[in-house]
Amino acid sequence: MGAILQVKDLEVSFYTYIGEVHAVRGVDFSLEKGETLAIVGESGSGKSVTSKSIMGLLARSARIKQGEIRFEDKDLAALPERQMQAIRGSEIAMIFQDPMTSLNPTLTVGKQIIEVLQKHRKLGKRDAVQRVIELLALVGIPNPDKRMKQYPHQLSGGMRQRIVIAMALACDPKVLIADEPTTALDVTIQSQILDLMRRVQSETGTSIILITHDLGVVANMADRVAIMYGGKIVETGTVEEVFYKSRHPYTWGLLASMPKLHEKSDELLSIPGTPPDMMDPPKGCPFAARCSYAMEVCFAHMPVQTEHSSTHRAACWLQDPRSPQVARPASAGG
Ligand code: SF4
Ligand code: MG
Repeated sequence: MGAILQVKDLEVSFYTYIGEVHAVRGVDFSLEKGETLAIVGESGSGKSVTSKSIMGLLARSARIKQGEIRFEDKDLAALPERQMQAIRGSEIAMIFQDPMTSLNPTLTVGKQIIEVLQKHRKLGKRDAVQRVIELLALVGIPNPDKRMKQYPHQLSGGMRQRIVIAMALACDPKVLIADEPTTALDVTIQSQILDLMRRVQSETGTSIILITHDLGVVANMADRVAIMYGGKIVETGTVEEVFYKSRHPYTWGLLASMPKLHEKSDELLSIPGTPPDMMDPPKGCPFAARCSYAMEVCFAHMPVQTEHSSTHRAACWLQDPRSPQVARPASAGG
């Protein structure tokens, strides 16, 4: 084992006509070879912006202000677009929520996968067709030689997401980033796609970053979890640590609001209050305004990461041995 990808102190902002939006504010994590890391958070937490930074797909209005994205011997945060193009879709591939946004409606699905193969692998036509058939079989599409001649609209939503996965896997990526890969699908298809991703991972050994708001999916898929809130990772640990030994009140809220089995939800619900304004993020804990455990120190000082095991960290004053000193006003003395 060893890290295939390391994100260090990443800061990303959007520049809008009304001001700077601090979308990602100092994010650190690593992705080990062959593992699935889930990044969990509400919309606006910075999870998608983090994944787009890795892919070099940030909007024009966004800028990486600080930090590194280490992939092998390269820093993707500083890589020119030209070199990024050689990596994107080949070494690092992405699966988006809605398969229709990644598929071209005017080309047969076979042609689209062949295009990817020809761009990155310089395969001849015959080898490329052979590879497409293999890939469609890998993602569980029956009669691949017939299916490859069909257009996206001739396939069901579940089939289309399988095609998108086949396309992402075309060049044997070392890292696969899946942003809400099953959110647009109904529950039965959702579990088939998750099964497929697990199987593909065990067959190909690819490392996966799974972006999701759905803790049910996390429990099913992930080895480790990073919980994001207000542009920061507030807790990270193994699935077991985060589900059973969580140290962060925001995680507690997420776990409490988990929809019941087989119930589908589009967003994380029922933690009262709203996320922080990322144009003017709080100087203390981003969750303080919604946290029922908030103390004075929480509003004044940003909590720092506390280690609870070699794999488990949380940023919360509640269980940080340093907090009493910070909480005490300076005038109180020794
Ligand atoms: Fe709540 Fe304070 Fe912990 Fe933030 S640092 S989660 S406000 S207890
Ligand atoms: Mg998103």
